[in-house]
Amino acid sequence: MPKPPSATVRTRTERVARILPILKRTYPNAKCSLDHASPLELLVATILSAQCTDDRVNIVTRTLFRKYRTPADYARVPQQELELDVQSTGFYRNKAKSLKGMAQALLDHHAGQVPQDMAALVELPGVGRKTANVVLGNAFGQNVGIVVDTHVGRLSKRLGLTKEDDPVKVELDLIPLIPQPDWALWSHLLIYHGRALCTARNPKCEQCPLLQDCPEGQKIVTQRGKGG
Ligand code: SF4
Repeated sequence: MPKPPSATVRTRTERVARILPILKRTYPNAKCSLDHASPLELLVATILSAQCTDDRVNIVTRTLFRKYRTPADYARVPQQELELDVQSTGFYRNKAKSLKGMAQALLDHHAGQVPQDMAALVELPGVGRKTANVVLGNAFGQNVGIVVDTHVGRLSKRLGLTKEDDPVKVELDLIPLIPQPDWALWSHLLIYHGRALCTARNPKCEQCPLLQDCPEGQKIVTQRGKGG
């Protein structure tokens, strides 16, 4: 017999059931903010997005995707040339190396296609669980896991859905709480909310439609009321 959910999981699930519709209503157009027209483009953009804003990545990929259309294009280009092409996203040596290694692995092991499989994706150079989740959820519509970036981690903690800091542990806490069809959307909604109101510094809790269900927000508002 499956174990019944603990009281904590039950409370958190009920909280998610209240806040998810509010977030959906507030951000009806929430979607992946990395521009892409294919799984390969999303994979490249996600690799480039490490320690870089999505806006900056989109500026770089606008040109990059016209120059590089297939894995063979990335595998063939000299490392230095690719470094120059991705330079403004930061950590460009590592990123260029990852892109070339990833492209070569696609050619060697996947007939030049991006695999639709978590185990195969995380084997690719430069691809971790977060990148694999982004690609599976957004390019293939497969909700295999939940993307936890800094916004998702910060907001999930403030909303009392996890106490963890490590993204993989946060993901494990979220998985039983969020309905699986909403896993990709959940990340987009939290990223939108993190940019709009629940910013890292000075979150706008007084204007937040989630305040009633946010333990951290209620603490912040009380402290502000006391002038703290
Ligand atoms: Fe973030 Fe404050 Fe809203 Fe909570 S109430 S989700 S801390 S903005």
